[in-house]
Amino acid sequence: MTHPFALDMTESGWKEWCTAQGAKPFLGTQILEWIARKDCNEPEKFSNVSSALRAKLIESFDWSLPVIDTLLPSGDGSEKILLKTKDNLFTECVLMPSENRVTLCVSSQVGCRMACTFCQTGKMGLTRHLSRGEILAQVIIANQRLKARGESRRVTNIVFMGMGEPLDNFEEVVSACEVMLDERFFGLSKHKVTVSTSGLVPAIEELGRRVPVSLAISLHSADDEQRSGMMPVNKTYPLTALKDVLLKYPVQTRHGITFEYVMINGVNDSIAHAKKLVKFLHGMKAKVNLIPMNPHPGSTMVATDPERMREFQKYLTDRSIPAPVRYSRGQDVSGACGQLASKRKDELQLAPRTVALARRREWLETRR
Ligand code: SF4
Repeated sequence: MTHPFALDMTESGWKEWCTAQGAKPFLGTQILEWIARKDCNEPEKFSNVSSALRAKLIESFDWSLPVIDTLLPSGDGSEKILLKTKDNLFTECVLMPSENRVTLCVSSQVGCRMACTFCQTGKMGLTRHLSRGEILAQVIIANQRLKARGESRRVTNIVFMGMGEPLDNFEEVVSACEVMLDERFFGLSKHKVTVSTSGLVPAIEELGRRVPVSLAISLHSADDEQRSGMMPVNKTYPLTALKDVLLKYPVQTRHGITFEYVMINGVNDSIAHAKKLVKFLHGMKAKVNLIPMNPHPGSTMVATDPERMREFQKYLTDRSIPAPVRYSRGQDVSGACGQLASKRKDELQLAPRTVALARRREWLETRR
């Protein structure tokens, strides 16, 4: 018989479970504190819980975290973590420490059904949603990795920009965000938990009502026809519908809503595109992250050249729209979302010898 995954339990679920064991309900909060404040998934270490209850915890729940399949440290200090779920699927998160923060990019699904043309995860299709516990496990694993690297810091910022469309897995993502924001648990600031969506309009509205997180929109074009070609979600929720809901969104950060704009050479990077973008953003407090396209196998799209990118950026900043250029961290280790997991998924279809040779080549490349 499989046991329920301990990290899937909510605070109220733990309280009910404790009550059913004849224990005080407040112990439920303490159990969740061990998990989400001390990154501890070993109940035998829960020193403020009785030994009888600890034994019950061990026998009643599955405490194992997803297995780290591959760790790829990048030359820029980030670390890509490929995780294998209990049902042998691959997902990933990216740990990006910098001087004054430690950002973790988490996945919310295995694959994604949104089929954005420039994205490698989009080519995989959706295999399944991750549970709340599988999302939180990425934070715990990242914190444990920091400790193993000799760092005293924990993750300070979380961005839902890994594999998957977070708002397509709404309840699990909201439930995970609640634990991230709760000061008794992960205790992250609402400015520092960012949910990034391709534009599922009704879910954006609901998110604003349910949990105070920062919002990022994968925009990539402010032209309806072009955006529908790049992002099929735009056919259902075009730019006017998106803008309507964003104007009402309760923004959590000083700069308002973040818009992600992947710069693709000759596709969406002209001044005419920039003009449409400025028009779309009119009336909103916004920041635009300009992201050079990260090429991936099977795609002919390449990044805009730096000069053209500077012109595009200047057009925005001259109109008081902050537009930093953001390079995907960990590019030397397949840093962009879904690249590593989809690589491993492809490997599963190959003969073991072919996989071994490919991984050896990859390993050698990381050491050049
Ligand atoms: S860009 Fe995001 S929403 Fe679009 S296919 Fe990729 S993971 Fe899914």
